[in-house]
Amino acid sequence: MNRHVRSRTTVYAAGALALLAAATGCTSDGGSGAASAALVPASGSPTTAAPSRSAGPSPTASPTGGGPAAGDAAAWAKWHLTPLPPAPPAPADKPVKLARTGPVPVFSEVKTSDKVVFVTIDDGAEKDPKFVEMLTDLKVPVSMFLTRDIVKDDYGYFKRLQALGNHVHNHTVDHAQMSKVPPEKQKSEICDAQAALTQQYGTAPLLFRPPYGDGASTPALNTAVQQCGPRAVVLWRESMQIHDMQYQAADKKLRAGDIVLAHFRGPKDLKGETMTQMFGELLARIQEQGFAVARLEDYIEAPAA
Ligand SMILES: [Zn+2]
Repeated sequence: MNRHVRSRTTVYAAGALALLAAATGCTSDGGSGAASAALVPASGSPTTAAPSRSAGPSPTASPTGGGPAAGDAAAWAKWHLTPLPPAPPAPADKPVKLARTGPVPVFSEVKTSDKVVFVTIDDGAEKDPKFVEMLTDLKVPVSMFLTRDIVKDDYGYFKRLQALGNHVHNHTVDHAQMSKVPPEKQKSEICDAQAALTQQYGTAPLLFRPPYGDGASTPALNTAVQQCGPRAVVLWRESMQIHDMQYQAADKKLRAGDIVLAHFRGPKDLKGETMTQMFGELLARIQEQGFAVARLEDYIEAPAA
């Protein structure tokens, strides 16, 4: 266990996986998304769900003359959002330090006193051009955990998000439930995805997330990750549904350093809401609690080459 990572992280992860798997669904590979159904308020309407802050231009308007600057209130108003606080500078001394060899740490939060959370987005099923526009406007950093067979029909979509400074990480070949497959299959799920993502995105994924968080703390999975190249297994503390987050903490509050899970999902999996509506709701929930969104990779020291 990496001493820079809170020890309770893995303890919690081991005990909560079944719950998480049921709660988060992670169904972009064809599941029903039924786990989210109870979270849709009866009065919810896709056209009014986003918090409306101003009578600014329509979200469909395109920026002219280049994107707005970071923290530009007009950019947030365009998406009917209140700006998040700016993230502090990346820490010089990274709270997470990854080793080049040996067992990989498993974590779902980063130890920091900065009032920040980290947003991760999984799978890759929904490839909404409006979401590229949204991140271009808002400059909110995200980390992408991509499943090869879900993104391979359009690797280019995620290159546009990568071009904004966002990193690509490994989320298996075909979203297998890792504890249900033998060690050799676990290895091919991770190694084959690692090869494809490295070839497509020009850099080897540093992090791995098993589908549903399943098997994260097992020796077989840890060994497979080590064999394939990622240097940490990253889980989460909160998962975004449609309008709100599901919290592991009993008080349903974000804490500094929490890692938040969302998915590339569209109307089929979001009861009619779009990716940008869901993401706007996520940002609103973070803003209400006074947190900034920082870049996860800015808090992680990669192994020395
Ligand atoms: Zn997934």
